[in-house]
Amino acid sequence: MPKRVQKRADSFVGKTAGGKTADCEVAYVTEEFAAREKHKARLLRKTQWWKAKCAPGICYYCNSVIAPSELTMDHIIPVSRGGMSVKSNIAPACKACNDRKKHTLPHEWALGLESLNQRSGV
Ligand SMILES: [Zn+2]
Repeated sequence: MPKRVQKRADSFVGKTAGGKTADCEVAYVTEEFAAREKHKARLLRKTQWWKAKCAPGICYYCNSVIAPSELTMDHIIPVSRGGMSVKSNIAPACKACNDRKKHTLPHEWALGLESLNQRSGV
């Protein structure tokens, strides 16, 4: 459901642009930035580089082996947190991981993975 994810990202950006700063670690981004980086991600998705990245069919986060077509493009540092659509910030993730990760940063996500392991099967 990429449409739903995008909608969430937009509302996230909008909320933080309103002056709320829940996290001082990363500068929040403008909608223009998010739109530009999402566009770049779409272009990257068509490249041989991305196809090669997905070919092994391994999720970057949980190491699950799944069909390459089931892998989604994930920003390691989310666009909504200032992450750019560059090769070093993009990894293939299974849908479950991508959905759980959302806007978290790697260290926040590591904590999330722990709880994920505790209640695997959900
Ligand atoms: Zn995964």
